[in-house]
Amino acid sequence: MLEESAVTPMTAAEKAAMASASAGPEVTCCIVGAGPAGLMLGLLLARQGLSVLVLEAHGDFDRDFRGDTVHPSVLEIIDQLGLSEGLLALPHSRVQQFGLQTEAGWLELTDFRLLSTRYPYIMLVPQVEFLTFLAWEAQRWPTFHLEMGARVEGLLEQEGRIVGVRYRTREGWREARALLTVAADGRFSRVRHLAGLEPVKTSPPIDVLWFRLPRQPGDQLASGGRFLHGRALVVLERGSYYQLGYLIPKGGYQQIRQAGLAALRRELAILLPKELATRLETLQGWNQIAVLSVESSYLKRWYRPGLLLIGDAAHVMSPVAGVGINYAIQDAVVAANLLSASLRRGVLDERELARVQRARLWPTRLMQLVQEQMQRRLIAASLTKEGEQFRLPRWFRWLVRRRLVRLLLAHFIGLGVPRVRVKVAGS
Ligand SMILES: Cc1cc2nc3c(=O)[nH]c(=O)nc-3n(C[C@H](O)[C@H](O)[C@H](O)COP(=O)(O)OP(=O)(O)OC[C@H]3O[C@@H](n4cnc5c(N)ncnc54)[C@H](O)[C@@H]3O)c2cc1C
Repeated sequence: MLEESAVTPMTAAEKAAMASASAGPEVTCCIVGAGPAGLMLGLLLARQGLSVLVLEAHGDFDRDFRGDTVHPSVLEIIDQLGLSEGLLALPHSRVQQFGLQTEAGWLELTDFRLLSTRYPYIMLVPQVEFLTFLAWEAQRWPTFHLEMGARVEGLLEQEGRIVGVRYRTREGWREARALLTVAADGRFSRVRHLAGLEPVKTSPPIDVLWFRLPRQPGDQLASGGRFLHGRALVVLERGSYYQLGYLIPKGGYQQIRQAGLAALRRELAILLPKELATRLETLQGWNQIAVLSVESSYLKRWYRPGLLLIGDAAHVMSPVAGVGINYAIQDAVVAANLLSASLRRGVLDERELARVQRARLWPTRLMQLVQEQMQRRLIAASLTKEGEQFRLPRWFRWLVRRRLVRLLLAHFIGLGVPRVRVKVAGS
């Protein structure tokens, strides 16, 4: 099983070693975490000649499955930076429409082709490829530095202001000082914990088991949700394979595991057409299945003097509509838009960090509220008792049959509200 790990406390010996950290670089911005948020912010600041240090705990980008959806809004941002050709050259597949299969038939939910954008689709590209691409582009700028295998474990504080971080590398402990420290270190953010900021959590009623099945030429299964016989499966068509997400009641994984892989395959077979159900035999070990403990949370305060939190560190998004990467990148763009001028001047006021939060908190909360409704009214309701038929609520069917509603959904999911654009020029 590939599972996320939460923050572990340090031992006394580790704390003592950390205290003897050697002095390291002094930069304008130190970013903790080379995920989508951290790398995008680093790229945008480095393009303006600002010195950036990105610290990444892992030695490479090849981590557990973490989703691979790049929405039209991100494609527009990449286009604005003049990098779309390189991104689109990566092997990928595209989702233009998304619908729901229930016992009553197929219902189209949204169609990105309705959008007025050069990129009317969701690009599906493994996150490892996407991050490698962003890192490569950022490293072309001389003021951008990425240190892999650098785990931040402490914050440097001076007169109530965060002035940098302490981090651990193979060679030992180091310190980096910065005018601005940005926590882009994901859902289990160590920096958030160190800064004493507590997220407000909601409890989504589901978890997701992610896995792949081989796809063959002529397979007709469309990307979308399959809500059948009291079970629910998300299907993403990925060229040579299908990426599948089996939705289970919260905390239900242990029970599924105890019942065994053969029982899981039997359950999944009920959701798939015959020709695909036979391919479930390729699932031979739990290590082929990534468990996503679905969370949704937000910080009431995204900053402290000298410190800003963005991406999953500031808000964990539910996987409904697959917008986590999207929102993380939008945070980065807005942060660069609003803070670059001050960073260039070398003076940064707490109120400017508050402006970033103001700009991004409400879009995030709005999306989370919509996700909550979808989870409770559609997904949790679809996980009914064995044999019971799930019927989409009549009001829902009525709504999504309207073209305007499908367009609004495509806009909300694909482009975001408000639409985020890069406002700072590169050098
Ligand atoms: C199983 C799974 C499936 C998902 N599916 C999708 C999907 O289909 N579509 C979608 O949009 N989103 C999906 N998501 C969510 C998406 O991955 C996140 O929303 C997105 O990656 C957030 O980006 P981020 O840059 O804020 O954080 P992350 O991508 O989590 O990056 C944080 C980085 O910080 C590093 N880090 C952590 N702690 C430290 C430290 N102390 N020091 C240094 N570095 C540190 C981590 O190694 C990591 O590289 C999924 C998530 C999971 C777990």
